[in-house]
Amino acid sequence: MRVITIANQKGGVGKTTTAINLATALAAIGKRSLLIDLDPQGNASTGLGIEKDEREISSYDVLTQGASIDEAALETAVPALSIVPSTLDLLGLEMEISTADRRAYRLRDALDRHAAAGAKYDFVLVDCPPSLNLLTINAMAAANSVLVPLQCEFFALEGLSQLLQTVEEVRDSLNPELDLHGIVLTMFDGRNNLAAQVVRDVRSFMGDSVYQTVIPRNVRVSEAPSFGKPAILYDMKCPGSQAYIALASEIIQREKQLAAA
Ligand code: ADP
Ligand code: MG
Repeated sequence: MRVITIANQKGGVGKTTTAINLATALAAIGKRSLLIDLDPQGNASTGLGIEKDEREISSYDVLTQGASIDEAALETAVPALSIVPSTLDLLGLEMEISTADRRAYRLRDALDRHAAAGAKYDFVLVDCPPSLNLLTINAMAAANSVLVPLQCEFFALEGLSQLLQTVEEVRDSLNPELDLHGIVLTMFDGRNNLAAQVVRDVRSFMGDSVYQTVIPRNVRVSEAPSFGKPAILYDMKCPGSQAYIALASEIIQREKQLAAA
């Protein structure tokens, strides 16, 4: 079981879209996948068609009440893809467990219990809130690696060093195994000269950490969540869906390299 946390403290950079479509693409190539929604906004849950009243046992219960991953996981319309949904309860979590034991390991402990009982999943993707708070720290402490979506816009690199520093701090203090999986450039608009410049800048700054696949800006991708579907299910042929399928195979390749290293 490999755990990949999708994090960036900026909002609107494509974390949730990447989590949903990557999880779908991995499931489509036969990898049993689980998406864990750790954002109180619950966009990943909504985007996978999980209604509010279906979220009886949520990621909040997993982090606070000792609910198991199995109890919380719901099937989705995508075969081989399940989700642990989130609710607004997560907003209070930081306060509630701020002095509790193993507060940064709540997710890790739940995943360890799941693995000990015979893991059902090949890949677990964790969708983080737009913040470097205790939820994101839990997600990093539980992960094998971190995947960072960066939007192709002028301020793309702003905040990245703080994020990478957080990854390093988590590696030093909580999770020595943690890798940077890679950086995926999102919402690329080929008609915009600036976007091409951003791609060049990010590649020269971050080198091989940047995936070859760049996700184009595509209306079909932004429409899909309102139908409660991943873009890959809503319109598999659209350029955005195709890019996420390509990203999934790059991820599998990189996983093999990480495993061999
Ligand atoms: P985050 O989770 O980082 O806040 P989202 O994945 O929710 O970001 O994306 C922010 C907004 O941009 C959403 O409305 C989403 O539908 C839209 N979006 C994300 N990726 C694309 C894309 N490739 N093309 C068009 N719109 C996109
Ligand atoms: Mg989001």
